[in-house]
Amino acid sequence: TKWVYTFGDGQAEGRARDHEILGGKGANLAEMCALGLPVPPGLTIMGDACNTYYRNGRHIEDGVKAEVRAGISGIEAITGRRFGAGSQPLLLSVRSGARVSMPGMMDTVLNLGLNDETVQALGHDAGDARFAWDSYRRFIQMYADVVMGLGNDAFEEILEDEKAKLGHETDTELSASEWQHIVFLYKKLIEEELAQEFPQDPEVQLWGAVGAVFSSWMSARAVTYRQLHNIPEGWGTAVNIQAMVFGNLGNASATGVAFTRNPSTGEKALYGEFLVNAQGEDVVAGIRTPQSITEEGRLSSGSEKPSMEKLMPEAFRELCRICSELEIHYRDMQDIEFTIERGKLWMLQTRSGKRSTRAAMKIAVDMVDEKVITEEQAVLRIEPSSLDQLLHPTIDPRVTRQVIGTGLPASPGAATGAIVFTAEEAVEAESEGRKVILLRVETSPEDIHGMHAAEGILTTRGGMTSHAAVVARGMGIPCVVGAGTMRIDSRNERLLGIGVTLKKGDIITIDGSAGQVLKGEVPMIQPELSGDFGRIMGWADRLRRMTVRTNADTPADARAARSFGAEGIGLCRTEHMFFEGERIHVMREMILAVDEKGRRLALDKLLPMQRLDFTGLFTVMHGLPVTIRLLDPPLHEFLPKTDDEVAEVAFAMGMEAIALRQRVDALHEFNPMLGHRGCRLAISYPEIVEMQARAIFEAAVAAAKETGAAVVPEIMVPLVGLRSELDYVKARIDEVAGDVMREAGMKIDYLVGTMIELPRAALRAHVIAEAAEFFSFGTNDLTQTTFGISRDDASAFIPTYQRKGIIEHDPFISLDFDGVGELISIAAERGRQTRNDMKLGICGEHGGDPASIRFCETIGLDYVSCSPFRVPIARLAAAQAVI
Ligand code: ADP
Ligand code: MG
Ligand code: MG
Repeated sequence: TKWVYTFGDGQAEGRARDHEILGGKGANLAEMCALGLPVPPGLTIMGDACNTYYRNGRHIEDGVKAEVRAGISGIEAITGRRFGAGSQPLLLSVRSGARVSMPGMMDTVLNLGLNDETVQALGHDAGDARFAWDSYRRFIQMYADVVMGLGNDAFEEILEDEKAKLGHETDTELSASEWQHIVFLYKKLIEEELAQEFPQDPEVQLWGAVGAVFSSWMSARAVTYRQLHNIPEGWGTAVNIQAMVFGNLGNASATGVAFTRNPSTGEKALYGEFLVNAQGEDVVAGIRTPQSITEEGRLSSGSEKPSMEKLMPEAFRELCRICSELEIHYRDMQDIEFTIERGKLWMLQTRSGKRSTRAAMKIAVDMVDEKVITEEQAVLRIEPSSLDQLLHPTIDPRVTRQVIGTGLPASPGAATGAIVFTAEEAVEAESEGRKVILLRVETSPEDIHGMHAAEGILTTRGGMTSHAAVVARGMGIPCVVGAGTMRIDSRNERLLGIGVTLKKGDIITIDGSAGQVLKGEVPMIQPELSGDFGRIMGWADRLRRMTVRTNADTPADARAARSFGAEGIGLCRTEHMFFEGERIHVMREMILAVDEKGRRLALDKLLPMQRLDFTGLFTVMHGLPVTIRLLDPPLHEFLPKTDDEVAEVAFAMGMEAIALRQRVDALHEFNPMLGHRGCRLAISYPEIVEMQARAIFEAAVAAAKETGAAVVPEIMVPLVGLRSELDYVKARIDEVAGDVMREAGMKIDYLVGTMIELPRAALRAHVIAEAAEFFSFGTNDLTQTTFGISRDDASAFIPTYQRKGIIEHDPFISLDFDGVGELISIAAERGRQTRNDMKLGICGEHGGDPASIRFCETIGLDYVSCSPFRVPIARLAAAQAVI
């Protein structure tokens, strides 16, 4: 095997595309070298050698050593220096370099090759003894830390003591002899601590450092980082060995880091910092305050210290030239590290720079305008889920946060308001124009109106799929759930946080993207939906094949979704319309009625309300398709629970409380998820379907008259498993349609279809398609019924499953392609066998999940439907899925 790839003097064996074997750093060093940029010569040991190192019980293979020695000879030839000997000693840096950047996780050793002899030669050669001793003390400290495991603290202490004794403020004030003394103290410390000398043999130093870089791959922090970021252990880290160049060689020398564009705003301007007469990590270590690279940067930071642009104009111009060359070559914003040695610029690293979503948008759009990338590439550059950050107000990144509690980031965006403890208070506050944060231990459907009225929601219990989280995401309201570090004392209306006790009316801010609770009001940044965002979305819309609909139950949701670009409603859950205000009472009367007569009485009250809802929805969505799901109520959520509630409902219905309690008990279900719901209810009580169908058709007539544009209602029957179920319900709908058309003297186009949310329905799709004119995959229930897991109970064990590696993703968040996905493909295929122009879509949480959207594209669905605030995410993800 070939273990080592060399680079230097305009030649390189590797290229950027070899990053899988050479790691990011090595591959890009090779690429820059091949481009003819000034890169100190060096070599890269491929990542697989790291695996071999571990396989050999932490020994470096002889073959690897031989190739490294040969590579170092090459470096010697290019630089005219000798490693470990002679009047011009070669010093090396030994740098880690994994396939993906793992910031701060891995180790680097600089100035390797120095010992008591070479330090003298280095000083003579440079004509600067101070520089040589400064490099030596740096080397000893880094080596002792990284290779010998002594840490940094004791060395820092020695240095601070000496500086204090000598009356120096900064490191650069120390003279050669003072550094020499510190080197003496450092070596003494090592002997005392480890009872061994600091290694003088450069060859020993070299293998020590290479071994340490390999070993850092298995350090506790690196292992944890890999787990958090799903990085396979088998990748290993590459090692880069490179000739040193010196930023600490006097005042014409410097070291720095830069972004080719501003990483937080995206503005096209070099952005970075440097330090004169310094080396390596000094810039990030915060020992001295670094200076701005550009004059503009200096001015905006208000710093007195001169910029590199002023101080080293030639090196600055060279840096600007190289930065634009790199950008054009890589077609992306770069994050670079460089060093200037006596006026000459050297490039030490380049990679694609991390950036905020806002910056990512601006950079992608600017690069299209600069003709550096295509519109397709620009669309691919934006991580769809990161759009969340842009659609909601966010906390100004410049403020310091006073965190009083932490929980899960359940629904993005930030919100400020006075705390209230009940849904009623939230509603009351909204009507008076006051902004509140609704605080609950956990929420239930009865809190819906209060959740709507609040600016933000905070719960102390529950996970990412708890009621509060799902509903808040659907409504686009910022939400933090499961803030277990806080306690709600509802009796005294207090919130106990970290170091504070708040009472009702006190102001807090929640950050639903970070899962944080902050004290008081905090400055925010408002979302900006035009400009760069608008252009990227425009390109995405042109590219994608699938349409994007929204799940919306109210005209307000529908309006929000349209403003985000929704092209129809994929799911209107009619039962959600009945949680609002007074309606829940009428709904309870209907559910609890003992006979058909009682039910019809309640239904008559519900009809005008429903008609009004649908007219509103159809008016907002005029010209676009609207899918309405017939009633699928979670009965147990509607039923009165407390004695007070029972008494109240009994009074309204003119019943005895005892009789009503019996009725409630009779309706009790052992397993509501698999109980008397969906079309089962419609079959037991067809008068409910009749009322809903009438409301829908009458509203369609009204809206058509009002807007002049017809809507085509798509009526969706839930929880169908048998074709005969659908036939029965469809017959009721068709009958009402005929009646309404006759009464209105007008033809109404409509479709009747079904949700596919039971495995049986998926398997029998070809038969069900004889009656159904469309399918919508209700993946929430389909996941529940395929896995046999109730979503409401899943949080008790899914996290354990994930921790123990039994399951990778929560199937309620990211679609289970292998199982649930296969049922969907089967149903899609069989459905189209029967009806080849059948419209197929997906609704439910997965409709807004980029990975699931990609899956929908591959199996040829016509649309995805998601909550209003995820519509832009879905538009972008649908475009990326076809590129
Ligand atoms: P990290 O991955 O932590 O950034 P690097 O391997 O990039 O570690 O090294 C950190 C710093 O060390 C670099 O930014 C650079 O300033 C310095 N450095 C690395 N190699 C050399 C070299 N050959 N000459 C001079 N400085 C170097
Ligand atoms: Mg480092
Ligand atoms: Mg680096």
